[in-house]
Amino acid sequence: YCAKSEGLGHSVYDPARDSSSTQRLALMGELPEAIESDELVVLYQPLIDFRSGAIAGAEALVRWQHPVHGLLGPDVLLPLVEQSGLMSLLTGRVLDRALAQRAAWSAAGLDLDVAVNLAAPNLIDIGFAAAVDALLREHGVPPRALTLEVTETIVAADPPRVIGVMGQLHALGVRLSLDDFGTGSSSLSFLRRLPVQELKIDKSFVLGMDGHAHDGAIVRMITRLGHDLGVSVVAEGIETAAVYEHLRAGGCDRGQGFLLGRPVPADELARLAAAEPAGRAAA
Ligand code: C2E
Ligand code: MG
Ligand code: MG
Ligand code: MG
Repeated sequence: YCAKSEGLGHSVYDPARDSSSTQRLALMGELPEAIESDELVVLYQPLIDFRSGAIAGAEALVRWQHPVHGLLGPDVLLPLVEQSGLMSLLTGRVLDRALAQRAAWSAAGLDLDVAVNLAAPNLIDIGFAAAVDALLREHGVPPRALTLEVTETIVAADPPRVIGVMGQLHALGVRLSLDDFGTGSSSLSFLRRLPVQELKIDKSFVLGMDGHAHDGAIVRMITRLGHDLGVSVVAEGIETAAVYEHLRAGGCDRGQGFLLGRPVPADELARLAAAEPAGRAAA
């Protein structure tokens, strides 16, 4: 095959053009060790509190720093993990890293919470909540400092079972967030059965606010719905100051997006959070 690294950080591996199952199998063969090694990279994207303009937390986003193919994103990595049956292992490693990081930030005087994405295999695993509990205790992180992000698609896979596991997680005291909200087909019927404390508006609507009146209307509706339900509302995909200002004026609680900060290594996130927080919105 012809995929070649252009050096660290940049990937030229294009899975869409990779029809070779031998290459996929090769990557899958490397995966179990990679997940347990430094090749598994966790980046942190700032979550901004609209009221203070400060960094209130960060979402952990996984990458595979492959020695040959460069930095592989979730679009390549997650299907391989799924096919290999390694999702529980991956989530465990990302959670472990993120909680260790949160503990380190806290020790450095930074009050940041951390969000981790879950996948379907985690939420049909009746042992998952106990594993999360054990990791929280190991790292001495209070449950409320951890947000677990779940999509409607995951819930739809097996509603009774997923809702059961979410109930156990809720009972631990961790926050649950409904990620990519608005893109699922059954948002509203599920909503009242889910023990979530946060709606995370999908970035397609937020990106679309620049220019499309309908997307602005949808975002305002979701924000009101969330607040009427007593949960907080987060917008992802904020790329422009105009969208930021609309969301702030509309009462959205938190924001995430390239305007506010890209996913970065943990030490960089700490530098950003320690630096002057005010005036971010104006910048
Ligand atoms: P997500 O959970 O909805 O995460 C937000 C994604 O939107 C991230 O992509 C982030 O980099 C991107 N994003 C943030 N702000 C902007 C913006 O202003 N504009 C645009 N265009 N994009 C923005 P990323 O890191 O490639 O992750 C993609 C998805 O992969 C995530 O979507 C999540 O569903 C999944 N994922 C990432 N890390 C993990 C993980 O550790 N475990 C699991 N199960 N899934 C993960
Ligand atoms: Mg997410
Ligand atoms: Mg999302
Ligand atoms: Mg997404």
